[in-house]
Amino acid sequence: MLAGARAALAEVFGFQDFRPGQEAVVASLLAGRDTLAVMPTGAGKSLCFQLPAVIDDGLTVVVSPLIALMDDQVRGLRLQGVAAGALHSGRSREDNAETWRDAMAGRLRLLYAAPERLMLDGVMDGLSRIRLSRIVVDEAHCISRWGHAFRPEYLALPKLRARFPGVPVAAFTATADAPTRRDIVEILCGGDAAEFVFGFDRPNLTIRIAEKRDPLRQVLAILDDHRGQSGIVYRLSRKSVEETAADLVRQGYTALPYHAGMPAEVRAENQDRFVSEDGIVMVATIAFGMGIDKPDVRFVVHVDLPSSVEAYYQEIGRAGRDGLPSTVTMLYGLADIRQRRRFIDESDAPEEQRRVEHQRLNALLGVCETTECRRRALLRTFGEELEKPCGNCDVCLEPPEVLDGTVPAQKVLSA
Ligand code: ADP
Ligand code: MG
Repeated sequence: MLAGARAALAEVFGFQDFRPGQEAVVASLLAGRDTLAVMPTGAGKSLCFQLPAVIDDGLTVVVSPLIALMDDQVRGLRLQGVAAGALHSGRSREDNAETWRDAMAGRLRLLYAAPERLMLDGVMDGLSRIRLSRIVVDEAHCISRWGHAFRPEYLALPKLRARFPGVPVAAFTATADAPTRRDIVEILCGGDAAEFVFGFDRPNLTIRIAEKRDPLRQVLAILDDHRGQSGIVYRLSRKSVEETAADLVRQGYTALPYHAGMPAEVRAENQDRFVSEDGIVMVATIAFGMGIDKPDVRFVVHVDLPSSVEAYYQEIGRAGRDGLPSTVTMLYGLADIRQRRRFIDESDAPEEQRRVEHQRLNALLGVCETTECRRRALLRTFGEELEKPCGNCDVCLEPPEVLDGTVPAQKVLSA
């Protein structure tokens, strides 16, 4: 079976070899097991379900949260000669109808769809009349209420499983700590799945975390080291995005704002420019980034404290996807911590969820305040143990002076 997979890997996708982890995940899918695969951004998760889809008879249904992600994959697959289509609100009624007819006639290997579209009665009925080889849920962390990327539409997905009990489910994500993994397996796979969790380390990222003193000056110093290169500056609020973008433009940088309050056309235009031109600084809220496939982002700056290690890891993961040296810098201060805690306390989430969110924030603060290798502290929160200090974070590069072993750390944690 895997010989066939190797042949298809070369013939259909043009790859000489599997990337780390891919082969095991492909084998699990081909064996028809419910599967959860956690692999870093850029690791090649799509191939893990596209390859089995090409090999198996029957249709692979892929649930994806973003229209842009679906279109991108469908385009890529068609270029490789794989029959794939997408159903979503961004396409015309005729286009969707044609894709649907193709799927029903057995002419497609992969059908991408937004979750809400799959739930339509007509779609469910149609799918029950053809042979499904598996249901794939991409960006599966969106199902977890506890995650920062929660999508309520994803909560309808168990209906799919209930309707097609014999069809295996394969879930993929780049970020899932233990509670999120539990959620995914519970909700999507009925409590039991083959789980694969692969390497979170991104050794080419220089990790820096510093106290926020004079943020504009600190950001300018970073940008100065990255002249002509592309990068992302994350800010918490829309207002601060606008302000920082304007500040940077005034300093002569090509900085563009991006946040959910901007008109969709302007956002799309800024995103296109960021992807296609060199040297653009995208100043953005976390609304920016999911599914952006730009390999040469050389720096990511967090001017404000992210919400959790999970969110932080996902956001810095947008830097250096080509494997070349890149810098990720976070600034944070007491005010950030207080604000994050307030957000959690004032949210109307159930108490259990608030408790988890506090834990997640604290895990991030642990990384912020550590006096050991940052990468080690960060990876440990994902259950990965780094054998020796990384040599590529600020703590390794410029060891802090430790006076009595307890360090200034507790000052902030007890804020
Ligand atoms: P992820 O979804 O894990 O972030 P993608 O599926 O978008 O990653 O893949 C990232 C890139 O890696 C894509 O350009 C893809 O073509 C490439 N890729 C995937 N598998 C392989 C492989 N086995 N060999 C070489 N390139 C690969
Ligand atoms: Mg992906």
